[in-house]
Amino acid sequence: MTGRAEEIPDILITDASVLTMTDHPPFIARADIGIRDGLILFIRDKEALPEPGRSGHPDAARQIIPARGQLVMPGLVNTHTHLPMVLLRGLADDLPLMEWLNGFIFPAEGRFMNEKTVYAASLLAMAEMILSGTTTFCDSYFFVDRIAQAALDTGMRGVVCQGFIDFSAPDVADSRKKARLAEQFLSRWQNGHPLIKPALFCHSPYTCSSETLKEIKRVSLDRQVPYLIHLAETKDEVGMIKEKYRKTPVLYLDDLGVLDAGTIAVHCNWLTDVEIELLACRGVKISHCPESNMKLAAGMAPVPKLLRRGITVGLGTDGTASNNNLDLFREMSMAARIHKVIESDPTVMDAGTVLRMGTIDGARLLGLDRQIGTVEVGKAADLILVDLNQPHLTPLYRCPSQLVYAASGSDVATVIIDGKLVLHNRTFVHIDLQNIMETVRDMGNLISRELPA
Ligand SMILES: [Zn+2]
Repeated sequence: MTGRAEEIPDILITDASVLTMTDHPPFIARADIGIRDGLILFIRDKEALPEPGRSGHPDAARQIIPARGQLVMPGLVNTHTHLPMVLLRGLADDLPLMEWLNGFIFPAEGRFMNEKTVYAASLLAMAEMILSGTTTFCDSYFFVDRIAQAALDTGMRGVVCQGFIDFSAPDVADSRKKARLAEQFLSRWQNGHPLIKPALFCHSPYTCSSETLKEIKRVSLDRQVPYLIHLAETKDEVGMIKEKYRKTPVLYLDDLGVLDAGTIAVHCNWLTDVEIELLACRGVKISHCPESNMKLAAGMAPVPKLLRRGITVGLGTDGTASNNNLDLFREMSMAARIHKVIESDPTVMDAGTVLRMGTIDGARLLGLDRQIGTVEVGKAADLILVDLNQPHLTPLYRCPSQLVYAASGSDVATVIIDGKLVLHNRTFVHIDLQNIMETVRDMGNLISRELPA
């Protein structure tokens, strides 16, 4: 694991411990990492070298980041969220999903979400994600050009999904125009934006008609982009779909022909063994959002079973109105613990498995595993530096255990995305966080004034 050490890096991280999330080797106690043109140029194991620092030109790097006592690992991948919903965080809590959606969230989105609020809220959400170690997100919402723009402005990598729903959505008044809107959105973002990958999202089997579900699938296949959908989230949903179509949500979608290797199903809390087999055969990938599922008492995906069947599972926070945070460290901790309770088995969902879900498996789910998800020469430099020099992380025996069970997002000191320094020692390099928070706070005050007490 050396790389082209003779080239001068743009950024040189020195004396870091490295968790590569590969098998060769999984951990390096002390290494220098060179980054150039957005990629990892070399990883130099300092203890393996006869004379530390004898190769390469560390002093010539444009920027040197001393990292003794810090752990370099791949940036986390949040496979499902609705970022602009940070604007509605805490507006309505402690309610069942359908009451929460129909009584509060959908009406508030209709009234308060527009290009301006979506952009401002997305900037805030991205700041929160960067501060807690997420470098790639997959977002599904409306006014998505503004979300993509926010990603460009914060320097984040994002899969940005245009949302579809069959009743009047904030920016999609006429459902007949859906396919055209999808095509136009993809055309705007499919080329020329290396950090942005556009995709399509149908809200659910109960809010989208079969025509919408099939039409958007057709476009996603034509354009070779991911197709996302909330699926089998609650018992109520299963009941509604069974009553309407005489089959479960999974079997209904399969009959429509929308389940395939390009489909990312979110939640999947209520699955039979037959449905798990079907999802595995179709190559469907699953985004698991344990904190949102717990808060809404929606159910829980049978993740150990899904993994045993070879299904790719990534982690998502879901929107902050149902979580209520974007910290993937907390999500990893919850994912590792909740399934042990459900299965009465402390050996399921071990720390290494959960950490893979938060990194390389999340990347695989989004079709980005050749670019990101591990620390390897030639991959994109999407890296986070975790400050290990803290009481709750001392001593360090096994990195995965410490990261999943003891660490939190606030332990992330520095974030590099696509080879660019975005956060350094918890200070943003090129965005004004105070200004972003003040803008969203003003928007929140306006919403508070307009809502009935
Ligand atoms: Zn969701």
